[in-house]
Amino acid sequence: MRALPATVLAVCGLIASACGGTGSGGAAAGQAAPATAAGQASPSSATAKEAPPAAKPLDGKVIVIDPGHNGANYRNPKVINRQVDVLTQKKACDTTGTSTNSGYSEAAFTWDVSNRMVRILERRGATVKLTRTSNNGVGPCITERAAIGNAARADAAISVHADGSAPGNHGFHVIMPRKINGPVDRVVGASSELGIAVRDAYRKGTGIAYSTYIGRKALDYRNDLGGLNLSTVPKVFIETGNMRNAGDAAKLQSPAFRQKIALALANGLQHYLEA
Ligand SMILES: [Zn+2]
Repeated sequence: MRALPATVLAVCGLIASACGGTGSGGAAAGQAAPATAAGQASPSSATAKEAPPAAKPLDGKVIVIDPGHNGANYRNPKVINRQVDVLTQKKACDTTGTSTNSGYSEAAFTWDVSNRMVRILERRGATVKLTRTSNNGVGPCITERAAIGNAARADAAISVHADGSAPGNHGFHVIMPRKINGPVDRVVGASSELGIAVRDAYRKGTGIAYSTYIGRKALDYRNDLGGLNLSTVPKVFIETGNMRNAGDAAKLQSPAFRQKIALALANGLQHYLEA
């Protein structure tokens, strides 16, 4: 058929990559390929037409976030005061947590910040799991909070808190596990790296000062926390500020500032996971 060469030319113009052309030459190359041309394309050129999903920085990473305490803990003392074994001692299953002087609870704060973190980290490709599903329940026990991170085989886990110290104390600190001759020993080194990454990102992202009352340069190491002692994945706690200090409380009560906190913590986790 005499018309054939013209047709082939047209197709080649439309699907430049399938014909070995430069792809940029010719007016036809700039046109959108009609759907009917796709049938002529080789499998490789068809694939090339679909934009591949962009790689995200935390693709394949699993992160467990533990929002400290729970909103109904205070109404269920029998449940949360049950003694559990944290290897170095027995202690309460969970606690009520603190609050600001105006009544904003630590449980509500940790729930809000943790959910903000989920949204940020999922956008960056991570699989994120929380240790509780609402802020109107009880618990779970600190033993279970650790077990959730372990079962998820988390690449990193963080327990979010705010402190209830004397009003004159202020600033944040990160708590990392110490060796206790137990399963956590294997992740003490990695947890320390995670803690330093979180400390640096939090300081940079929020401007909140290093704790004036605990730790050294906002780093503290403990062997009495069930959430750390029972962890077999890299894990840290952060006390994001002192809710009983007026300056810290004003920040922790601000939704805009909590977004800043969530972003800083997400950045700390990402820096550790990319290192
Ligand atoms: Zn707490």
